[in-house]
Amino acid sequence: MRTIDLASGERVPCLGQGTWMMGDRPQRRAEEIAALRTGIELGMTLIDTAEMYGQGASETLIGEAIAGMRDQILLVSKAYPQNASRERLARSCEASLKRLRTDRLDLYLLHWRGSVPLAETVAAMEKLQCEGKIRHWGVSNLDTDDMGELVAAGGGACATDQILYNLSRRGPEHDLLPWLGERGMSAMAYSPVEQGRLLGNPALAAIASEIDATPSQLALAWVLRRPGVIAIPKAGSVEHVRENRAAADLVLDVEILTRLDALFPGPRAPRPLEML
Ligand code: NDP
Repeated sequence: MRTIDLASGERVPCLGQGTWMMGDRPQRRAEEIAALRTGIELGMTLIDTAEMYGQGASETLIGEAIAGMRDQILLVSKAYPQNASRERLARSCEASLKRLRTDRLDLYLLHWRGSVPLAETVAAMEKLQCEGKIRHWGVSNLDTDDMGELVAAGGGACATDQILYNLSRRGPEHDLLPWLGERGMSAMAYSPVEQGRLLGNPALAAIASEIDATPSQLALAWVLRRPGVIAIPKAGSVEHVRENRAAADLVLDVEILTRLDALFPGPRAPRPLEML
């Protein structure tokens, strides 16, 4: 699996696994655990979750799925903005660690910006880092201006910004992705197949079939074409995980990229960062 360098120099796989909506339905549980374990076997060892997902159900499911394999995994979780204060972040982190059945997170993110000052969140993250509860910290859904404020607030060590980025959401290409790239900060693309909505696009499907790929593989390979970008698709079945894994080895040539540009034009002017 190709890797992406975090600013600290640590390498993480370019393709990870999302888990929003996982752990919500008991009848899907065994299949979801099998899907996550298959992904891990195939090198998709970065697993993304959040205290918000199923109010902890996703973290609990992951805790079960990774039992006995913790050291192979890069665990990413996220705190609600209202919990990103000096007082509350440690409590949120502790609860996430308990559900995940581990003693540390590899990456802990502010889920989106709320009313807690960024400097306070940075200080709270750094305290957790000093205590060994988290190895790195980052943010999610912060636009370029917010990132500038974060750095000015002492947050230059931010490891990543997890953002909505896919063929139909190309706004970050205008300034946010270049901004992150210039500072050696990775971007983590969430909803990389637009929660499945991209996969029914007939023109995308036609291009995919020409190169013996599936729409999901084409959409993911397109996200991964950009240096410094990690993609975290969520797949609830072993079949989908296997299919998605192959995207990390799919290189798109200029002709295909040009046709995708025509179908899904990039931004010509700044666009506010979208979020789901
Ligand atoms: P994705 O773009 O990853 O799409 C997930 C959907 O696509 C699921 O319905 C899944 O179905 C389907 N799918 C995946 N692979 C295939 C395939 N090969 N063939 C057909 N269907 C497929 O959307 P998400 O919103 O889940 O984003 C990914 C992750 O990003 C989340 O799970 C979460 O971890 C994170 N996220 C972060 C946010 C933030 O604010 N920071 C916001 C949103 C997401 P099935 O389950 O049946 O496989």
